[in-house]
Amino acid sequence: MIKKILVANRGEIAVRIVRACSEMGIKSVAIYTDADRHALHVKKADEAYHLGSEPVTGYLNAHNIVNIAVTSGCDALHPGYGFLSENPELAEICARRDIKFIGPDADVIRQMGDKIQARNAMIAAGIPCVPGSDGNLEDVEEARVLAHKIGYPVMLKATNGGGGRGIRRCDNEKELLGNYERVISEASKAFGKPEVFLEKCVINPKHIEVQILADSQGNTIHLFERDCSIQRRNQKLIEIAPSPQISPEQRAYIGELGVKAARAVGYENAGTVEFLLDQDDNFYFMEMNTRVQVEHTVTETITGIDIVQEQIRIADGLPLQYKQEDVGFRGYAIEFRINAEDPKNNFLPSFGKITRYYAPGGPGVRIDAAMYSGYVIPPYFDSMCAKLTVWALTWDGVVERGRRALSDMQVYGVKTTIQYYQEILQHPDFKGADFNTGFVEAHPELIEYVTRIPPELRAAAISAAIAAHEGI
Ligand code: ADP
Ligand code: ADP
Ligand code: MG
Repeated sequence: MIKKILVANRGEIAVRIVRACSEMGIKSVAIYTDADRHALHVKKADEAYHLGSEPVTGYLNAHNIVNIAVTSGCDALHPGYGFLSENPELAEICARRDIKFIGPDADVIRQMGDKIQARNAMIAAGIPCVPGSDGNLEDVEEARVLAHKIGYPVMLKATNGGGGRGIRRCDNEKELLGNYERVISEASKAFGKPEVFLEKCVINPKHIEVQILADSQGNTIHLFERDCSIQRRNQKLIEIAPSPQISPEQRAYIGELGVKAARAVGYENAGTVEFLLDQDDNFYFMEMNTRVQVEHTVTETITGIDIVQEQIRIADGLPLQYKQEDVGFRGYAIEFRINAEDPKNNFLPSFGKITRYYAPGGPGVRIDAAMYSGYVIPPYFDSMCAKLTVWALTWDGVVERGRRALSDMQVYGVKTTIQYYQEILQHPDFKGADFNTGFVEAHPELIEYVTRIPPELRAAAISAAIAAHEGI
């Protein structure tokens, strides 16, 4: 039985994993670099080990992290998302050192981490894929010929990409020729691998993904879908479960397709199969994420299943606690990624001290945060500082609850995306559950509205609130 877990991550997901451990009676071990000396995951874990002064690279040193797991007496390691979570070598090192890796097999991570290999495996399994390359592009001439064959617009994509980076839409040959070297350079910089491929661009698609759980005994189930169509630059901002935009028949179809995809690659543990839904109601496989996802909270909220605890049980060799027919869902959940960014300034990251933070509460509200009053957001990492997840029985109810909870949530000292999300919630297309991945780009006015309150008044209101607080 797993008794002690090394949490190979930081921020809100590290806190999330520590919470799961705590509820299961499992000890947790945190790791941190100098920049995270005062981070919440360090405070909450049972033990914490210092990785050195360099802010980021410590979290990427698989050998050292597994060493800490061994010497601190851990029997398992949870990789979270980002960092080493999709690095097959971490899973291999864990296996060699007799540490249970809480995730799928290294070979499956490797295969699904390569979007070409993933596509080919899905095509072989009869899962519909967007028309595109069957291998990496050799040169720009191959790209030109293939794009001509499948028709513009096309997407140039980093084969090993993630986090929405290394993806460019090309509307014509000129753009393709212009973007080719750019995507290669982005891919090399961000992922250390220059390989790129090409896919037909689906016009105004919805991003619909299926949460999978699969145990070591061959049981594979889905926990329904999430709608992650509200994105900016291919990065998710708001995620919803279930999708308010698909029918029960589509829900049943896509759930089964997700399970089929996972089975086709012998998937074990929690994973997500991402699909695009086009304007003619066709679903296409896009990629598989072999880890817990940022937006797992919305699925937990509607199904009542603790995905992180299930991950740990699966890694421990235990069978799933649920059969497909036992899994139901109730109402709607929306997650808002609260980023420390300035929407008015091209979403520029806004790091620094959170002078005051008031968490929202009340019915149907969940917060997964890495911040607290007085916390200084370090400039070296992702700008997401909290996730707000709200739940209600109906779509209209959850939109209202989101509005109320976002207004409850007060963050002073840094700029955040909170007010921008309020604007999205007020838009008739969002309220009417009719949006696609083009929504953010199609509505630049929502970013303008963020400062509907004149900045002087806003600053005065904030000072007054702080003064009032300090007067207490
Ligand atoms: P999710 O897929 O869980 O919805 P994201 O795609 O936003 O979430 O990724 C979550 C985090 O992991 C982000 O910080 C992102 O930058 C990082 N990330 C995702 N994939 C990769 C990758 N292949 N390489 C490096 N970082 C990644
Ligand atoms: P990542 O690994 O960075 O998450 P994905 O392949 O999942 O990359 O793509 C990220 C986002 O980019 C998708 O959610 C979608 O909005 C957009 N996208 C990717 N491929 C296509 C495509 N072929 N057509 C239209 N949009 C796409
Ligand atoms: Mg993706």
